[in-house]
Amino acid sequence: MSEYQHPGDAFATRAVHAGLETDPAYGAVAPAIYQSATFIQKRPGEYTAGYDYSRTANPTRDAAEAAIGSLEEGRAVTFASGLAAEHALITAVCSAGSHVILPKHLYGGTHRLVDKVLAQWGVTYTLVDQGDLDALERAIRPKTALIWVESPTNPMLDVVDIEAIVARKGNALVVVDNTFATPVNQLPLNQGVDFVVHSTTKYLAGHSDVIGGAVVTRNEELDQKLRFIQNAAGAIPGPFDCFLLQRGIRTLPLRMAQHARNARAVSEYLETAPGVTGVRWPGFSGMVAFRHPKSNELASRTRLFALAESLGAVESLIEVPHSMTHQATTGTDAAIPADFVRLSCGIEDPDDLVEDLRQAIESV
Ligand SMILES: *Cc1c(COP(=O)(O)O)cnc(C)c1O
Repeated sequence: MSEYQHPGDAFATRAVHAGLETDPAYGAVAPAIYQSATFIQKRPGEYTAGYDYSRTANPTRDAAEAAIGSLEEGRAVTFASGLAAEHALITAVCSAGSHVILPKHLYGGTHRLVDKVLAQWGVTYTLVDQGDLDALERAIRPKTALIWVESPTNPMLDVVDIEAIVARKGNALVVVDNTFATPVNQLPLNQGVDFVVHSTTKYLAGHSDVIGGAVVTRNEELDQKLRFIQNAAGAIPGPFDCFLLQRGIRTLPLRMAQHARNARAVSEYLETAPGVTGVRWPGFSGMVAFRHPKSNELASRTRLFALAESLGAVESLIEVPHSMTHQATTGTDAAIPADFVRLSCGIEDPDDLVEDLRQAIESV
C-alpha cells in the first residue's frame, strides 16, 4: 500500500491527501468506507494490517485520524463527539481528587461535563478569566492536573495568549480547544501545549452533517492512554462519519479563507449598523459576535443566517447564546448577557450575508 507520508508538503496539500492511500484493490481515487464491525483472521490472532474489531481500530477512522494529526502536527484520536473527546481526555489525565482550571467563558457543554458529570467522580474545578495570568497562577494547586484553554473563546471571541499560559502552567498539562480557530489559523502544539481538542462537528467536517471530536497530542504515552480509553470506553465515530469528516477536511483551507472574508464583510457592516454595539471578530475564522437590545427578534428575522445552534459549516448560522447554547451558565460567573448575538458566517457571497443582516436589523 502506498500511504501518503509527506510531512514536508504544505498545509493545503496535506489537507487534500493526508491519511489517504492508493486503493490497492481497484485503484479508486475516492477513499473506501470500511463499514464493517469485524475483520476476518487468517488464523486465530492473525489479523490483516492489525484490524480485528472496529471499536479498537478501523481503516476509515485511521485515515481521518491521520489527516487531523497531519494538520495539527501531532497524533489524533477521534471520538463520537467533541464532548466524548473531552471526556476521554479528562479521564486520561485526571483521577478522583484532581483539579482542573476552566476558562470563565467557555463552551457550555465543557462546563456541564466537568460540573455535573466528572465532579461526581471527585474532580474539582476553578473558573478563571484567561486574560488574567496572575489569577490563573493563583488558581493552580498541587492537584491541578489540567488547564483548559479556549481561544478564541466561545462565545465572547477573546483571543488568549497561549504561550503565556504555558509559561505558567507549573506541573499541570494544558489543552487548547482549537474548534473555533482550526489548524489553519493556530497550531497550539507548536506553542507548547500538551493537547488540542476539536469538536470536528464544526469547521473540520464543515457541512453540519456529522457530529465528532478529536484529541491530538505529541506525547506518545498520552496518545496511548487516549487510544486505550477510546477502545475501553468505546465512544468511537462510525466509519461513515469518519468518511464525511475526512471529506470535509480536504477543503478546510479554502473554506476557512471564505469564512474569514465573509466575517470581515459582516463585521465591517455591523460596526455602522443601527442599534448594534460591541462587534467582535478575532480577525480570522468565521465567528462574529455583537450586541443588540432586540437580539431574539433580530435572530428570528434573518433569511440566510439560519437560527440554529452549532457553527463552522458552509451555511451561515445565527444564535442568541443566553437563550440557546449557554443557558446552563445563567446565574453563574460565566453567564452571557441576553443582548449578545453570535454569528457563524458561512461561505455564501458576502454581499448577500450583509444584506440579510441589514434587512433583519432595520426591521426590528
Ligand atoms: C461544539 C463544541 C464542543 C462540543 O462538541 P460536540 O461535537 O457538539 O460534542 C466543544 N467545544 C467547542 C468550542 C464547541 O464549539
